[in-house]
Amino acid sequence: MTTFWTQKTDGELKERVFDALSRNVHYQDQNVFGVPASQLDEKVFYKNASFLKDAPFLSTLMENPNHIGCHTLELSEPFFEGTQEIERELIDICACDILQGQPGQQDGYVASGGTEANIQAIWIYRNLFVADHGASLDDICIICSSDTHYCIDKAANLLSIDVARIQVDEATRIVPADAVEKIAKELVDAGKKYFIVIVNMMTTMFGSVDDVNCYVDAIKKSGGEFRIHVDGAFGGFYCPFTDGGVNLNFSNPDISSVTLDAHKMLQAPYGTGVFLARKGLMQYAVTKEASYVEGQDYTLIGSRSGANAIAVWMILMKNGPQGWRDKIGLLQERTQWLCAQLDESGVDYYRHPCSNIVTLRSGSISKELAESHWLVPDDHENPAWYKIVVMEHVTIGKLEPFVMSLQQTG
Ligand SMILES: *Cc1c(COP(=O)(O)O)cnc(C)c1O
Repeated sequence: MTTFWTQKTDGELKERVFDALSRNVHYQDQNVFGVPASQLDEKVFYKNASFLKDAPFLSTLMENPNHIGCHTLELSEPFFEGTQEIERELIDICACDILQGQPGQQDGYVASGGTEANIQAIWIYRNLFVADHGASLDDICIICSSDTHYCIDKAANLLSIDVARIQVDEATRIVPADAVEKIAKELVDAGKKYFIVIVNMMTTMFGSVDDVNCYVDAIKKSGGEFRIHVDGAFGGFYCPFTDGGVNLNFSNPDISSVTLDAHKMLQAPYGTGVFLARKGLMQYAVTKEASYVEGQDYTLIGSRSGANAIAVWMILMKNGPQGWRDKIGLLQERTQWLCAQLDESGVDYYRHPCSNIVTLRSGSISKELAESHWLVPDDHENPAWYKIVVMEHVTIGKLEPFVMSLQQTG
């Protein structure tokens, strides 16, 4: 059962978005003198194109609402109330209907992408440890697996805190529990007291999913404080819809925040990361100096397009919860089909059962075949693995000749 997420027809989507736009300010018809913003330049973006009346997303782009700030908090800029309300509904769908949060218990916003959402999380926890525990930056450390996305290193660099990456097992891509325990203890012995743990719901290269309890147990044993952020940039719109029982969501009290990327599996336009956090956390990222923004700014990004939230909301609402589950089911079937072919041919690969990424060992495939199908290597200089991502356009019809070439030439 979903609380906020229903399936809507094209007509219903259109009505809702145009109604929202009508409750935003109108630069053309009203006296809006105070903001450095307007509709998109009409010399380039033709406002009178007849199809626009049937195109709610493009119409939102044209009207160009600015969703600066975080709209699940009490106060927001009044200019764009209509479309901000849709963003709030989107946050509720993601936090409650996809990630098992309780209604009204999470904040969130549409970030530029997974990178920003992950940095936002780490920024919040760094500030929390400093503000509430009197931590110095040297006391704080990010912990994550060696397969974690490199944006975590950007965060560590920007925020001047250390990061400890734990080497995963080469074949299973799992972080061994004893290694986590050993490193947590070493870090505590070296003076670290506060840990920001990044748990992956599908890593970028392997689609592997981390075991959150392995981190929780090890850090509790070490005596350190911790907060856990789930990086679901890849898997957030995928794993929760598979039957594998990936439970990296707000039903787990140890998990405080989650990143999702709608511009990956959801096929939304770029600029649609989603950051979600339990209530009471966004405040640690407030920039009080943002006094000209009503409601202040609790986000990393500043100005951002309201059209992005509309795009993600429309995709979710058009599919509906069951439609989305069916779509992921289809991708799962294709991925299983591919894996069955690889098994039959004795090809060496990694795949998590709740993922649509199949990563082949470079020894199992020729460079030519990998390159001719645009497979992505783990390392462009010296590839050990090549990945296939079974997306919407990667059909069994297209995979079949590939598998045949693989069998013939390797
Ligand atoms: C893609 C990805 C990111 C970064 O997301 P961007 O949207 O490219 O900024 C972070 N984490 C994981 C696991 C990813 O797959």
